[in-house]
Formats: sequence, structure tokens, C-alpha cells
Amino acid sequence: MSTLDQDLDVAGQNFLTNGFEVSQARIATVGDMSVRRLLPLRLRRSIGAWCFVDHYGPVSVDGVTGMAVPPHPHIGLQTVTWLFEGNVLHRDSLGSEQMIKPGQLNLMTSGRGIAHAEESPVEHDPQLHGVQLWVALPDASRFTEPAFEHHAELPFMGSDGLTITVFMGCLTGTCSPAATFSHLVGAQLVASRDVHTRLAVNPDFEHAVFVVDGRARVGDADLTPGAMIYAPTGQLNIPISAPMGTTLLLLGGVPLGERLLMWWNFVARSPHEMAAAVADWRDGKFGEVGGYAGEPLKAPPLRADLLTRRT
Ligand code: MN
Repeated sequence: MSTLDQDLDVAGQNFLTNGFEVSQARIATVGDMSVRRLLPLRLRRSIGAWCFVDHYGPVSVDGVTGMAVPPHPHIGLQTVTWLFEGNVLHRDSLGSEQMIKPGQLNLMTSGRGIAHAEESPVEHDPQLHGVQLWVALPDASRFTEPAFEHHAELPFMGSDGLTITVFMGCLTGTCSPAATFSHLVGAQLVASRDVHTRLAVNPDFEHAVFVVDGRARVGDADLTPGAMIYAPTGQLNIPISAPMGTTLLLLGGVPLGERLLMWWNFVARSPHEMAAAVADWRDGKFGEVGGYAGEPLKAPPLRADLLTRRT
């Protein structure tokens, strides 16, 4: 759903003890919606294979159009749609049509190329609150066949006052059924009471934690929505304190170790690939997305300085 503006320079990163970093979201606009863009950061383009994090809402969409992201293409990534409130309708060029609600996962693997649209259905819930995440496909997998999957139920567990739902990858042996192409985790943490815990994590992973609703102390940082903490590899656990009702997101994975070129809705490795994807979208080679009442998005001009930017 995103338009990546590449204006990364205003995002500050503060360095804490233990190599932890805390950063603030940039405010970006997607369609009519204001979003907190937590990743990429200028100095940190990916965390595990997670390469893009938008947090939006909660926002009232009562009596208005709500989300309306016209058909647009993707290459080289998976889009991960996860909601806290509301509902969103997904359609793609494979013919998929799927409503998503909180606690469910929509996972679209673009592979070599796919197009999709996301919108609030005509009759929609009055509130909207969610995240739009991207996972970069590793070089060895990025030309895989495009695919879409919906998971209505995901594994969850209780851990020291946290109710943890694992929507991507694995956390302490609890694994999502969703398709992944690198070792990673995506999990929702909800404080079912006042929580003071140390969340066990995979020491081979680097992690990000951010607050979706409420407030929390994570490591040495006090977080509210719009702030994110980064923990490097080598941690056996992440200290988390939060009042009852707080919702956090945990993202992590083995450091990707690949230089990503990200522009607009594409994750590639070279300017040539980026230009080819733009041409393919212009020429209709990504396929049709049916059912959307409106024109597809046009790629912005492919600027030479974006293509030569070091990533
Ligand atoms: Mn999209």
C-alpha cells in the first residue's frame, strides 16, 4: 500500500546502552492517510529481512471512504498486512479477493511480480488501525512465483502476562504457518495484565520492538506509538515493562546481509531492474487487478539520483 518517498534524513536514531537504538517514525502520507513510517531508517535499512514498517491509526473511517490504495505493483518482497481494528479488502492480479480482520494475516509474496489494491469495503468498521510491513525476499528467492495467502487463525501463547500471537516465522518454538524465505519473526504482544518480563528471543536475530497502543519500557527506552527500539543480535531476551492493555509488535530476523535498492513499491538490487519494473508496470505486464473503482497508480518519475543512491 505504500509510496516510499525515500526522504530518510529526518529520522533520528539515538544510541542506548547494549547497542540498542531508539528511533522516531517519520510521518508520511499514503493516499489520504497519515502513517508513522518506522522503517527504513537512514542508518538502518532492514531488520532481519523486514525492510518497511508503516503504522497507521487508530483513525475514524466512519462515514468516509477510508483506505483506498489503487492497483500498484510489487517486486522482490512480501507484503504483510496486520490489523488491530477495522477491516480491509485485498484484491490482486492472481484473482485473489480477501477481507482481513484483526488477528488475521494477509501475506502476499510478490516474487518476480504482482499487483494489488487495498481498500476499506463499502460497508466498513468505523475505526481503522494497522500496520503494513514488507519483508525483503533474499536474492536466492526473489524471482519466485507470486502468491497470496490468508491465515484466519494464528498460533498464540501466554508468556508472563503477555499474550503473544506469532504471525510470521517463529518465536521460542511457536511458528506461524505463513510462507517465509529467511529466518525471521513477526509477533503481536498484548499485556493481559501489568507486565514486567524478559521476553526470550533468538540470539541469532536482530529485533525491533514498537508500541502500537499504550506505552512500554523496552530495554532502556520509554516507548509510545511512533517510537521503535532496535536490539542487535546476541540478546537472549528483551526486557519489557508495560501496563495492562498495551499492544506491541516484535519484528526480527537473521541480518539479511544484502544491499537492497528500494524505490516506490519495488525492492531490487540494481537500477536496471528498477527501470525494467517501471516499464513492465507501464506496459501492463503485471496483470490486471479486478474490482477496484478507479485508475491504477502510475509510477513516479524514475530519478537518476534515486537509482544511484547508496543503500
Ligand atoms: Mn502494496
